[in-house]
Amino acid sequence: GNGSAVTAEMVDDVARKHFPPCMRNLYERLKRDHHLKHFGRLQLGLFLKGIGLPLDEAIVFWRRMYGSTMSDDKFNKEYKYNIRHSYGQEGKRANYPPKSCQQILTQNQPGTQDSHGCPFRHFSPDNLITFLSNSYPQLERSSPEMKEIMDSVKSTHYHVACTRVFELTHGVKKGEGLGEGESVGHPNKWTDRSRELERD
Ligand code: SF4
Repeated sequence: GNGSAVTAEMVDDVARKHFPPCMRNLYERLKRDHHLKHFGRLQLGLFLKGIGLPLDEAIVFWRRMYGSTMSDDKFNKEYKYNIRHSYGQEGKRANYPPKSCQQILTQNQPGTQDSHGCPFRHFSPDNLITFLSNSYPQLERSSPEMKEIMDSVKSTHYHVACTRVFELTHGVKKGEGLGEGESVGHPNKWTDRSRELERD
């Protein structure tokens, strides 16, 4: 994290401005369906912890997202424990770190009902183009930039594609990446850097 706390109230705004594609996708799905499957909850939940959402705010956030699709009773019995667990407050009290791109790309391959994973790797080319152009207005469907991104995806250079999206959506020159040419290796780094750039 970069030290500045995020409240449940702020997540929507931070998501719109500062979430990388994988988390943007999970968040949009959660907003739409009021539900995420296990690995999706885990991927997004640990990420949110990493951007500075404290445990009590995480409980408020998830309760709100599930909304009336879930009773308080079910939430308290089945979901609250898991949230507390991922913050190291239950079970063996391990402090689980947010997942890196490498872990997201290679672990627990998503099935058709899942929304976790990395869009660059796990979406079909058509779905990826639609998702990127809908989520990031700077990326036009049939632009040379989109073609460049899709070329990187085709050659399985997912980090390169993601780094290019960061540059194009932050007015950063090609090759500068997250700063000093660093490419995206962790979703939390994307968000930390994006929030830093906004403050500059
Ligand atoms: Fe997320 Fe990493 Fe994939 Fe970018 S490359 S979408 S940060 S998993």
